[in-house]
Amino acid sequence: MKAPRATMPRLGLGTWRMGENAPARAEEIAALTLGLDLGAPMIDTAEMYGDGGAEEIVGRAIAGRRDDVYLVTKVLPGNASYKGTIAACERSLKRLRTDRVDLYLLHWPGHHPLGETLRAFVELRRRELVVDYGVSNFDIDEMRHAVGLPGGEGVASNQILYNLQRRGVERKLLPWCVEEGVPIMAYSPLDQGRLVVRPALRDVAMRHGVSPYQIAIAWTLVHDGIVSIPKATRREHVRDNVAAGRILLDEDDLAALDRAYPVPKRDMPLETA
Ligand code: NAP
Repeated sequence: MKAPRATMPRLGLGTWRMGENAPARAEEIAALTLGLDLGAPMIDTAEMYGDGGAEEIVGRAIAGRRDDVYLVTKVLPGNASYKGTIAACERSLKRLRTDRVDLYLLHWPGHHPLGETLRAFVELRRRELVVDYGVSNFDIDEMRHAVGLPGGEGVASNQILYNLQRRGVERKLLPWCVEEGVPIMAYSPLDQGRLVVRPALRDVAMRHGVSPYQIAIAWTLVHDGIVSIPKATRREHVRDNVAAGRILLDEDDLAALDRAYPVPKRDMPLETA
């Protein structure tokens, strides 16, 4: 295992549910552009989102500034045969209007042998169509399997569901990834906007003079090796989320949040969106 070759920014912009309908596109492109302007230089997307529509709006948002953006996209498991992965990546690059992605992920474990997908990832990297590659929604056994395969040593990230109320990964998967030097991308840091705001979270937010959602994002960034990719279409949300990357939580804040949102007492399977 090794760290990504390109430095992964700590805070990015999610795009799930973007690119799904034409009237919303201008607003979504504006939200991504604002996020980049404000200093969140990473965008996370996937061929699945909006059936390619999200990649198209990302392509519009990064036009003229590609070199300043760390770009992540994903191949659907159903496309992740050797040939299918390469073809899917080429299609994504067209929609994204770029010649490379910085991080190309297998969206979740599927029925194609992982060895085939990894072989395709290595080939895509050789052709410089991807800088790094990785996986998403892989639990600890799947990670162990992945690293034992040819090409597995290059797995540069695991993108997983992780937020204040989904802390099961802290029992085993997260320490394993930290130990192995595999950066974690925390997706749905606001639990898809459904984060339950408990009194302790409200108190910490008041102490910092920010919103509870900003604290939830700042919390995902507390550990080294974790990046966070909140999604926002509303401009005030984009502003808040980028600013959240600058909030420093102290030990008292963290202890209060631990009490209000405890790590589960038993191991549990990886949760997914
Ligand atoms: P999320 O980021 O946890 O939540 C997004 C929701 O929260 C939206 O409804 C958004 O509203 C709202 N929101 C954003 N900022 C807010 C703020 N400051 N205050 C209050 N509400 C706020 O959910 P997500 O989209 O599921 O996850 C983020 C990204 O992770 C995705 O977009 C995608 O790129 C990635 N992801 C990956 C996987 C995977 O399987 N690998 C799965 C899920 C997600 P508005 O849009 O109206 O502003």
